[in-house]
Amino acid sequence: MIRVNDLKSSFELYRDEYEKKALSVLRSGWYVLGSEVESFEREFAAKLGSRFVIGVDNGLNAISLGINALGIGAGDEVILQSNSYIATVLAVTHNGAVPVFVEPDEYYNIDAPKIEDAITPRTKAVLITHLYGQASDMAEICAVCERRGITLLEDCAQAHFARFGGKKVGTFGKMGFFSFYPTKNLGAFGDGGAISTDDEALAEKLRALRNYGSARKYYNDYQGFNSRLDELQAGLLRVKLSHIDEIMKRRAAIAERYLSEIRNEKIALPKVREGATSVWHLFVITAEDRDGLKQYLADSGVGSDIHYPVPPHLSKAYECLGYKRGDFPAAEYLADHVLSLPIYEGMPDGAVSRVIEAVNAY
Ligand SMILES: *Cc1c(COP(=O)(O)O)cnc(C)c1O
Repeated sequence: MIRVNDLKSSFELYRDEYEKKALSVLRSGWYVLGSEVESFEREFAAKLGSRFVIGVDNGLNAISLGINALGIGAGDEVILQSNSYIATVLAVTHNGAVPVFVEPDEYYNIDAPKIEDAITPRTKAVLITHLYGQASDMAEICAVCERRGITLLEDCAQAHFARFGGKKVGTFGKMGFFSFYPTKNLGAFGDGGAISTDDEALAEKLRALRNYGSARKYYNDYQGFNSRLDELQAGLLRVKLSHIDEIMKRRAAIAERYLSEIRNEKIALPKVREGATSVWHLFVITAEDRDGLKQYLADSGVGSDIHYPVPPHLSKAYECLGYKRGDFPAAEYLADHVLSLPIYEGMPDGAVSRVIEAVNAY
């Protein structure tokens, strides 16, 4: 069975370097928030083109801390897209704020012209997600946020180093939020996350918030959290970051083959917006009979996955918001029709060919 993602094969690509780094961190005697974290933050910031990066424990907490740092809470509204991953919504509601959903466009990202209609006097931020690896429509999104004086936040958990107009995601808004969950393009070997920002005072606050609200040991300025990044993950992330261009190239090459060689009228291929790039975190197609296609592929030895089968507004966790089927039809359509094909940097050419053959034979 060809899997959607194969973390072991990705590890094997740079195995010696990972093992060497892991041993050196283990032998260092320093395990949480140290020189590896500082070096990773500096290197990641440089590669992004952001002034500051704050390493944290995971992507969800990166977003939660960011929202908390802005003082967004009870009674405040945050606009986000109706087809994002649930974590984006959880970060909003964990802070007591209300998620206001805007439907996605044909690129699976927020339908930017619809943002303005969702703005109310209580809107405190627009939190966009660069979904599946593709940068959102930043020209339009930045324009509306500027015009209405609303803070822009970017969930970049799936889109490390994707660009719009040459600028990397996570550098457009007040903050960018990243996840280093193992399956992400820049994946660690455990949990990890980061926040990017150009605002020095905000960076200082975030550094304190991730560590019990303390900038100076045992002196606490905020009711903070324990959201620290550890040295082992940071060290391993530095190794992967040093190879990220090759990793992105390999993923792009696989996506290119899918885009040019998959030919099947029953399937719609993903599109990339003019001015945007995708880093192909996921390769997501749509099909009328998605479940039939998924079964057919499985019978042909090709794994696939659904990102995501339940849109947040219909999930049990958010029954309290009172939404029903039909409220966000674009998100609901995608939940019923999207299918993710295998894509990962360690994927052999032969496996790519087998996926193409299976999809074309359907
Ligand atoms: C993975 C992901 C997150 C959460 O990241 P974790 O590190 O798993 O907490 C948030 N938003 C999106 C869009 C994601 O894909």
